[in-house]
Amino acid sequence: MRDADFFRRWMVATAAAVEREADRLTELDSPIGDADHGSNLMRGFTAVRGALNKDTPAAPGAVLQHAGRTLISTVGGASGPLYGTLLRRTGKELGDAAEVSDEDFRGALDAGVGAVARLGGAAPGDKTMLDALIPGVAALGTSYRAAADAAEGGALATVPMRAHKGRASYLGERSVGHQDPGATSSALLLGALADVADGLL
Ligand code: ADP
Ligand code: MG
Repeated sequence: MRDADFFRRWMVATAAAVEREADRLTELDSPIGDADHGSNLMRGFTAVRGALNKDTPAAPGAVLQHAGRTLISTVGGASGPLYGTLLRRTGKELGDAAEVSDEDFRGALDAGVGAVARLGGAAPGDKTMLDALIPGVAALGTSYRAAADAAEGGALATVPMRAHKGRASYLGERSVGHQDPGATSSALLLGALADVADGLL
C-alpha cells in the first residue's frame, strides 16, 4: 500500500528530474515550440515541492490534487493545465483513503490520462505528452520500471511524428524529426515514480 508520503516523494523526485533536465526540455521546445517547456515545468514543480514540503496532506488523493492545483496556478504554458489535470483527476479518483493499492493507483492514473486527452483533444500519434503517458500507464501492470521504460520509448517514438496539437502543429510537416518536449517530460514523471517505487529516492 502507498501512503501520502510516497506521493509527496514522487512529486519531489519529479521536481529534481525536471531541474536536472530543464535545459534539455527547453532545447526540445525550441525547434517546434517557443523554448519554454523546461522553465515552465521547473517553475511549476518547484512550487509543487515547496507546497508539499510545507504542508503534506494526509491522503494520497489530496497530495495529487494539491500538486495539480499548484501546477495550474503557476505554469502559463499549455503543459500547466494538462499536467495539472492529470494530477487532479488522478487524485480525485484516489478519494480520501489514507493508503492506496498499486492497482487503485493504476486505475486512477488511467483516468487522469483520459482527462488529459479530453482536455487537450489529442489522440495517440498526435506528437504530444499522451504518446508517452498512454504506453507508460499501459505498462504499469507489469512494473513501475516497465512503465518508465515504455514512456521513454513513447517519447523517442514522437520523433518521426507530425504534430497535430499544440504549438508544434503550426509547423505542419516541419514538426517531423524532432522529439516532443511534453512526451519527454512525461517520461521524466514516470521515471521519477519508478525511482521512488524502487526505493532509489
Ligand atoms: P506551450 O506549448 O504553451 O509553450 P509547453 O511548452 O510548456 O507549453 O508544453 C508543450 C507541450 O505540451 C508539448 O510538447 C505537448 O507535449 C504538450 N501539449 C500541447 N498541446 C497539447 C494537447 N492539446 N494535448 C496534449 N498535450 C499537449
Ligand atoms: Mg512551449
